[in-house]
Amino acid sequence: MENVRKVDPVNPDIRVMDEAGAIIAGGGTVAFPTETVYGLGANALDDDACKKIFEIKGRQQDNPIIVHISDFDQLDYVSQGLSGKIREAFEMIWPGPLTVVLDKKNVGSVPTAGLGSVAVRMPAHRVPQELIRRSGYPIAAPSANKSGRPSPVYASEVVEDLGKKVDMILDGGPASFGVESTVIIFRKDEVVILRPGAFSAEDIKKFFNIKVSISGEVPDAPVSPGMKYRHYAPEKELVLGTDEDRIIEECKSGNVLFIGSSELAKKVNSESVILGSRENLYEIARNLFPSFRELDRSEYPRGIIEGFEERGIGLAIMNRIRKATGGKVI
Ligand code: AMP
Ligand code: MG
Repeated sequence: MENVRKVDPVNPDIRVMDEAGAIIAGGGTVAFPTETVYGLGANALDDDACKKIFEIKGRQQDNPIIVHISDFDQLDYVSQGLSGKIREAFEMIWPGPLTVVLDKKNVGSVPTAGLGSVAVRMPAHRVPQELIRRSGYPIAAPSANKSGRPSPVYASEVVEDLGKKVDMILDGGPASFGVESTVIIFRKDEVVILRPGAFSAEDIKKFFNIKVSISGEVPDAPVSPGMKYRHYAPEKELVLGTDEDRIIEECKSGNVLFIGSSELAKKVNSESVILGSRENLYEIARNLFPSFRELDRSEYPRGIIEGFEERGIGLAIMNRIRKATGGKVI
């Protein structure tokens, strides 16, 4: 397809990036790889351009979009900014897969869904960094999937979901982590994780050295509107298996696709999608969303997925699995 352009993820072609930047500056949309998943971007300061994102994805109007920046001047432009120890920590963490919700400035009501706050992130991937610089604008970008579908890890998955609706799709190979950024908000004496993601809760604790809670555990937590929607799900039924013997038993029936670790796949002994070794949760994370799409493409009517340890990126893995299974457990 002519709107798909290959780019080197480490050293993207300047001419292609200039073209893509001009599309953003002109009010168009560009899909691009990041270190988390593929994003669908538009000029964050142009409400009409941001409306296209909602239309293309079929996204609910009340679900705000993360604004991506390339430097701290842009942070101060789009938000009330950060100060003191928290800013110092962000200077170490960014660029990286951590998003922070702040009081907004200069950003319209479309990307922020009419809220007084804005979610901001400085991505570590060279392609969005160049895209932001060359367009001259902060870029509002949710994941580049059709709403409700698993987030794309490969450009081919963006094409599958959004195809020609996007002005340009930059194919820079697979996204690195395979799960979205972690979204946090600071409150009086604590930091609240609104969405677990690629940046671990353990690292948040280490960098900010304050109490960390996970939204849902705190009764009066501010809502991250996106978390209430059905998300990341395959079209077919998927259940979470919590007991190895039960998974093995279930798979014997032959009518279910097993998704899980190489360790358990050996014991299951039926057709499987192997996510990787239990010892490497990063590998599991990167293969997770593509495995949901593989289930949909397979001849199996349902899938069964194994659970993983909730340490590091495992917290995000289990969050996505619970959403994808709609809470169905055997
Ligand atoms: P996605 O667009 O798929 O990367 O999801 C972005 C996530 O960030 C969603 O869960 C949104 O609800 C959340 N988010 C974005 N902006 C805000 C905001 N201003 N306040 C709280 N959550 C936000
Ligand atoms: Mg998304």
